[in-house]
Amino acid sequence: MITKQEVVEKRGTLFTESKRRHTFNKGDRRVHTPRLCVVCGRPLSSLVMRSNSYITIHRHTRFHMNDIVVLDICTDINSCYRVLEQKGELMEDVDGR
Ligand SMILES: [Zn+2]
Repeated sequence: MITKQEVVEKRGTLFTESKRRHTFNKGDRRVHTPRLCVVCGRPLSSLVMRSNSYITIHRHTRFHMNDIVVLDICTDINSCYRVLEQKGELMEDVDGR
């Protein structure tokens, strides 16, 4: 289980700790691997069988934490909330935010 507050903090850490970031729009083909949101687990890219290449299926932001580690998240935080809620993993904050 994760609270909305924790989702905000998790995402905030990526913005402050990463060296650089780049946003990929839906339909962007500059993806060459399966990508998942590290916050909610949603698939962000999909294999196109016909051309055997990947395509962006959900707008996401890719963070370069250092020269080795890259992490992807949904650009829209509401997308993370929605997916976590659907999976029953989102907990309302104690103060009801
Ligand atoms: Zn997400």
